[in-house]
Amino acid sequence: MKNEKLLQTLYTIATGLTSSLAPEEVLATIVEGITKTMNFKGCSLMLISPDKSRLIHTTSYGISKGYLRKGPVQADAIIKRVMQGRTVLIKDAIHDSRVQYKEQAEKEGIASMLSVPLMPDDEVVGILRVYTSEQRQFTAKEIKFLSSLANLGALALRKAMLNAALGRSLEEHSAKISKMEEDQVRFLRFLNMAAHDLKAPLAAIQGFLWIMLDGYCGVLGDKQRDMLQRSSLRIDELLYLISDLLDIPRIESGQMLREMEGVPLCQIIEGSCSELYNQAKDKGIELRMELPQCLPEILGSNLRLKQVITNLVGNAINYTSQGAVTVRAAELDDDVEVEVIDTGIGIPPQDLPLIFDDFFRASNIGIRGTGLGLSITKRILEAHGGKIRVESPPSGSQTGSKFTFILPKKSGGLKEGDKL
Ligand code: ADP
Repeated sequence: MKNEKLLQTLYTIATGLTSSLAPEEVLATIVEGITKTMNFKGCSLMLISPDKSRLIHTTSYGISKGYLRKGPVQADAIIKRVMQGRTVLIKDAIHDSRVQYKEQAEKEGIASMLSVPLMPDDEVVGILRVYTSEQRQFTAKEIKFLSSLANLGALALRKAMLNAALGRSLEEHSAKISKMEEDQVRFLRFLNMAAHDLKAPLAAIQGFLWIMLDGYCGVLGDKQRDMLQRSSLRIDELLYLISDLLDIPRIESGQMLREMEGVPLCQIIEGSCSELYNQAKDKGIELRMELPQCLPEILGSNLRLKQVITNLVGNAINYTSQGAVTVRAAELDDDVEVEVIDTGIGIPPQDLPLIFDDFFRASNIGIRGTGLGLSITKRILEAHGGKIRVESPPSGSQTGSKFTFILPKKSGGLKEGDKL
């Protein structure tokens, strides 16, 4: 065996292993390379079955299909030794009692066979077997060379197994994702229906309560008035919750994309703040706006962006008992940035990671709310290609919170039907 030829075979196999060749092709290169370089009759690679009872043929060269179909190869005495990491030579294959298919070996013209373990690490996972047409011994050098090639084969096999496992897990994951998406659509439909069905009777009850509170059903005693007022407040809260719940399917279904147009963010901020001005004033809180002369237009929904500002500024006022709420806007390279800063109670550090979750309410608050405002705000901004983050306390302050969101100057042409 010429050294040059050996090197050539090794080179071909190693390039196959490191290149984009599929592992099956590398295995085919190995068995062909060995057969041709070392002038054998043939060579095959077999894997040990998971229960270790038989060998599973993977690839071979120089061996007829008829011989390959001879029947299952049991984990016989030879294989058991190979599985212990030994190389086993059967010099006279057609007379050796350890050979399972002697007759077929004779017909195939196999005289000797050498089995070498495939060991990608400590465990034997298969066998590399070479067949010769004449009875022969193998030199230590040949066995060493075959063992190195068997190890390369083991690497290729491992790569093939990893690829198969990866393919399977990718398939499983994408099936799970599709199922979750279907479940989400079904749930949103259900939410939409349930919220609509609840809204109408609650609004009717609210109407009756107002009629009674206005004295159209007779004079009310103090206790009756107090109880009716409290009921009316609770119904208000439920109606807020329902209106928030109805927003979620509207945003998630992409309905908002139909409302997209060029919108002036400064005007939206001014509009929202003027509506909340009295609420802040009643609490003795200063509501400041620090807006630039002009801001570029945003491709967005006027109504929903107003909802974002109103929610952030409304929260800032709600969760602040003294000081100020400041709304700032600035133009960045590709985006417009808006900050809503307050000097209020702040958000406990352990609650910060959950603050945008549905129904989440921090542990330091006493007033009622739905815990949906921020999650809806985040959904709206993300549907506009924007992002929101929170800092509490804002850097340089001892108390309060700062919510910052960015929106792209041009929303990249979101279209109806786009996935949000
Ligand atoms: P809600 O205000 O109805 O509870 P949100 O989703 O708007 O629901 O807010 C979720 C929670 O985040 C609030 O319950 C509150 O704990 C916290 N939070 C939001 N904004 C502020 C703020 N500016 N300062 C302190 N806590 C806030």
